[in-house]
Amino acid sequence: MRYHRAMSLHLYNTLSRRKELFTPVDPARVTMYVCGPTVYNYVHIGNARPVVVFDVLYRLLSRDYAKVIYARNITDVDDKINAAAKAGDVPITAITEKFATVYRDEMATLNALPPTIEPHATQHIPQMISMIQRLLDGKHAYEAEGHVLFHVPSFAGYGQLSGRARDDMIAGARVEVAPYKKDPADFVLWKPSTPDLPGWDSPWGRGRPGWHIECSSMIEAHLGPTIDIHGGGHDLIFPHHENELAQGTCAHGGAPYARYWMHNGFLTMNKEKMSKSIGNIVTVRELLRHHPGEAIRWALLSAHYRQPLDWSDDTIVQANRTLSRLYGALEQAGDAPATLSEPPAAVLEALRDDLNTPRAMAEISNIAGALNQATGAAKAELKAQLIAAGSLLGVLQQPPKAWFEAAAGRKTIDADEVERLIAARAAARKARDFAGADRIRDEIAALGVVIEDRADGTKWRAAE
Ligand code: AMP
Ligand code: ZN
Repeated sequence: MRYHRAMSLHLYNTLSRRKELFTPVDPARVTMYVCGPTVYNYVHIGNARPVVVFDVLYRLLSRDYAKVIYARNITDVDDKINAAAKAGDVPITAITEKFATVYRDEMATLNALPPTIEPHATQHIPQMISMIQRLLDGKHAYEAEGHVLFHVPSFAGYGQLSGRARDDMIAGARVEVAPYKKDPADFVLWKPSTPDLPGWDSPWGRGRPGWHIECSSMIEAHLGPTIDIHGGGHDLIFPHHENELAQGTCAHGGAPYARYWMHNGFLTMNKEKMSKSIGNIVTVRELLRHHPGEAIRWALLSAHYRQPLDWSDDTIVQANRTLSRLYGALEQAGDAPATLSEPPAAVLEALRDDLNTPRAMAEISNIAGALNQATGAAKAELKAQLIAAGSLLGVLQQPPKAWFEAAAGRKTIDADEVERLIAARAAARKARDFAGADRIRDEIAALGVVIEDRADGTKWRAAE
């Protein structure tokens, strides 16, 4: 089957607020940049959403274009990192190196392919200084009290990405308006560092970069002045991406900075954004103790990327169940030789329609259903299709046997049994049979469960 490559991919562009046909600047070198994590802690499952979503896009683009350069950065200079190092009384690099490695490993467990480049902010300070200098030379920035600030009124296009009115933007930036700012919307490109903070020598004294300039400089260094796709979570549209767009465009004499801006919706819990500052987080690390990375990935792709995804225990349970059904279809197909296949057209079409993963997954389920009924040559063909479709989503790539063996190896906890034992222990304690109560406590522990006696009763959870 042949299809016309660039004809078919449509992506929703935050900048134009509509779906557009994707046409790269240079089809021989497609460029994509996704804002990565600030490495000071374990990431939560919301942080993994952009990684998995843009990994699907990377897989899709890599099918259609010979060369796709995908950069996902590591922000390793930030005040939150400084605070974490101070709190733990360890050097900053001990924090950043540890959590960058953890992040890389965890994202690999979610079957995210390694990006082509993983630039670290601290390795691009000269590039940042150079870009800031050009902004100063072009009168888009000014120096004030050891700071360098981008002067927002110098860029007429400011606000085009977020579509915010000026007053909203100033309020939304939520930074106190420092007295040295010429305009309340001006933002920091460079700031002074005290001796106890990380700092680099610069024409403006020892200091460190603002967050936004990091991404623009790394983009310029690795991908060029104009990139095809810039992605991240919805919360990055303003101020981060609005500011990146402004400084990137001004540093390049008005050349477009990024052509397609893509933003994933929030992962929520009880409809509230999952966020470290609110504290309603589930870490990827915690989830991986009890669930396969592939099931987490499936769960993250189960809603369209621009829609919110409300997370609950059931989300992952369902994902696990679905994958077991799909692996079951592959398993019963047995040794039917799975010749390499083009992914089925319906799955490709769904993904090329602004990454419609729920539709692609429904198609995959249909193929598995047909495979369960098939015989002979059809069986081999459908098995091959299922695996090829799975490779686009980054699932179904291991032998079914491995999936089922891992599932059997994972401890399953019988909640009814735990509740029954907790009640029995409470009864024993009430009857002052403390030896009996302790025996039951040991029995509960043997089930792989930890209990905690609280004012509102005994709570339990799976042991780590
Ligand atoms: P941060 O480390 O907070 O800058 O976040 C890293 C990435 O995760 C960014 O692309 C954020 O937009 C994204 N992100 C953070 N929280 C969520 C969430 N609850 N749902 C989806 N994406 C998120
Ligand atoms: Zn960024």
